[in-house]
Amino acid sequence: RKRSESKSSQPGLLTEIQTPIRTDGLDSHYHITSDELGRGKFAVVKKCVEKSTGKEYAAKFLKKRRRGRDCRVEIVHEVAVLESARWNSRVVNLHEVFETEHEIVLVLEYAAGGEIFDHCASEEALTERQITRLLRQTLEGVHLLHQNNLVHLDLKPQNILLTSLSPLGDIKIVDFGLSRRLGAGSELREITGTPEYVAPEILNYEPITTATDMWSVGVIAYMLVTGESPFAGNDKQETYLNVSQVNVEYCKEAFAGVSELAVDFIRKLLVKSAEDRPSAADCLSHPWLWQGAWGSDSDPPLSQPPRERSAGKWGPPIPLGNPED
Ligand code: ADP
Ligand code: MG
Repeated sequence: RKRSESKSSQPGLLTEIQTPIRTDGLDSHYHITSDELGRGKFAVVKKCVEKSTGKEYAAKFLKKRRRGRDCRVEIVHEVAVLESARWNSRVVNLHEVFETEHEIVLVLEYAAGGEIFDHCASEEALTERQITRLLRQTLEGVHLLHQNNLVHLDLKPQNILLTSLSPLGDIKIVDFGLSRRLGAGSELREITGTPEYVAPEILNYEPITTATDMWSVGVIAYMLVTGESPFAGNDKQETYLNVSQVNVEYCKEAFAGVSELAVDFIRKLLVKSAEDRPSAADCLSHPWLWQGAWGSDSDPPLSQPPRERSAGKWGPPIPLGNPED
C-alpha cells in the first residue's frame, strides 16, 4: 500500500485512503439513535443501526471546519490510520465513511462496554487480574501500531473502550485524531493531547517517539490501579508542572493492597527520559502482566506470553505461582 506524507506544515499525516467516501446519505442506510455515546470538541459519537442488517455501530460525526479552518486532511488521516490498523484487533474497526455538507461520518464498530475510564475510581473497582488483562490487550494494540510506525498520542482511559461490560470484554483503542506516522522526513514535535496524560517531551516541544505513548500507558495503569490521576493539578499550569517534573506519588494509601510488581511496572514507564522507558514489547514481558494470567478468563492467541520471558529489561523471571491465586 502506498503511503504518502503530506508536505504541508503537518508532518506525519497519511493522505491516501481506500474506503470510498459515500455521499448517498447516511440516514437512508442507518437509523441514528438518540443515544449519544460520547462527545469531544469537534466530534459527536452516536449509536446507530444499519437498516439492512440490524447491526449496531457507533457513528462519529466530525466537523469539516474547525476554528474557521478546513480540517478535511486531518479527517482523511484518521480514516487512513484506521484502515492501516484494520488487521489490529485491538483497534476499533472502521465499517464505512459518509460525507455530508458539513461533516464526515465514520461508522465504527460499536464498543458496547464503554470507556475503561469508568473503571478508574469506580466503586466496584477491577481486580488486579482484570486490570492486567486489559493492559496486556492495550499493549498488544500499541505494540502493533508502533511496529507500523504509528503513534497514537492521545492514549487515555477515555479512548480505550470495552466490547462488553459483563462479562468484562476486550479492549478497543479509539480516537486516532491526534495520531501520527513517524519517520520519513521531518522530526515530529507537537503540542497536543490532554496535559494529564501527555509525556514531558510533548510539553517541552521535544521530538515525539513511540516512547511518548508508553508514558500514557503508565498513566493509564496508574489510574486503573489507584483510581487517581497521577499528575492532575488544580489547574492546567499545575498539571504541566507536575508532568514535566515527574511529580508523582506512590503513596501508601492509594497503593494499599496493590502488588509490588504493579508499582514496579508503573515506575518504569513514568520516567522523564523517553529512551529509558520500556517499549510495548518490553512491557509485555513484565512479570506483573502475567501474574496468575492462566485462568478461565485468559485470552486466546494474541495474548500468549512473549517467547523470551527472561530476556530484556526486566531482570530474571519471577516464579509465577498458582495462576488461580
Ligand atoms: P474525540 O476525538 O471527540 O475524543 P472519540 O473518538 O474519542 O472522539 O469519541 C468520543 C467518545 O465517544 C469516546 O471517548 C467514547 O466514549 C465514545 N465512542 C467513540 N467511539 C466509540 C465506539 N466505537 N463505540 C462506542 N463508543 C464510542
Ligand atoms: Mg477521544
